[in-house]
Amino acid sequence: MQGFEQGPIRPPSEARSLLVRVNRNCPWNRCAFCPVYKGARFSPRTADEVLSDLDAMRRAYGPDGPRTVFLQDANPLLLATDELVRILEGLRERFPRVARVTAYARARTLARRPPEELARLRAAGLDRLHVGLESGSDEVLALVDKGATRADCLEAGRRAKAAGFELSCYVMPGLGGRTRSALHADETASALVVMRPDFVRLRTVAVVPGSGLARLAAEGRFAPCTEGELVAEIRRLLDGLGELATRLESDHLLNLLMELEGELPGERSWLLGLCDRFLTLPADEQARFVLTRRLGFMGRLEDYLRPEVRAELVRALEAEGLGDQALGRVEEIAGELRTRCL
Ligand code: SF4
Repeated sequence: MQGFEQGPIRPPSEARSLLVRVNRNCPWNRCAFCPVYKGARFSPRTADEVLSDLDAMRRAYGPDGPRTVFLQDANPLLLATDELVRILEGLRERFPRVARVTAYARARTLARRPPEELARLRAAGLDRLHVGLESGSDEVLALVDKGATRADCLEAGRRAKAAGFELSCYVMPGLGGRTRSALHADETASALVVMRPDFVRLRTVAVVPGSGLARLAAEGRFAPCTEGELVAEIRRLLDGLGELATRLESDHLLNLLMELEGELPGERSWLLGLCDRFLTLPADEQARFVLTRRLGFMGRLEDYLRPEVRAELVRALEAEGLGDQALGRVEEIAGELRTRCL
């Protein structure tokens, strides 16, 4: 039986989605923080190839199979509109119970797609776009070679919303490093206020060995934030969102405070309070929480703060040779553990 092709990644929120590969790899492939498609060349796929994959998927899963679909890889909006509309219509014909179709979209591409073409894609059944905003600061975007400006991102958001898409924006705490942390938080918040995404998704930066970000760090142009500075930066970002109505998601293991999720602006006080609970812990307790969380011993700050859980976790750290003597190395250990989440 003929098979089908699938790409390497999808957003965490698409874990249960059918993955339909409409092109391969990333046409930009230069973002300093991103290890995903390095060494792999971008190539488009034709609608006929993708429709043939969809036939194979229907044979494998049946017409009642998937309820949600994610189009891969990095930038499906690069396809010609006619081709992508054929794919979307073919998808809806073969899987009539699908309730949501989602794709990544590069801000620079989205900002240049004519509104009438975006409206056709929306009408053909593309529901949600994930845009990697990462930062609202031109200085930060240029530093990491994102290939998009703040103006591109704002225009991308405007066009996505005008065409009726659900808009999901990825934001990367720590991407400006220590020296640009406040700038990054403030300008990202102000960009989000203009873009009005339905979802803001946090994905904390990790400095992967061999990456562009690691080179910037070696050159002294990027100094990674500490775990405490990352939480303070996120707090500042949340504060800057003001009355923006959106859903905050923390659905990536790279984030320290996994429970930092909620509806804004209604739950803003609770979210800020959670940041403050971490930030006001004594330094050694912050370090123990970071180690237990980064090692995957537990997921929530509130769990850690329960005395019986904390005592158990401290014993587990000691059993791993990470007792009090390791607390001074917490940033080094946590930074290394973050790279394993990718
Ligand atoms: S972050 Fe996105 S646009 Fe940048 S290199 Fe990675 S896949 Fe490509």
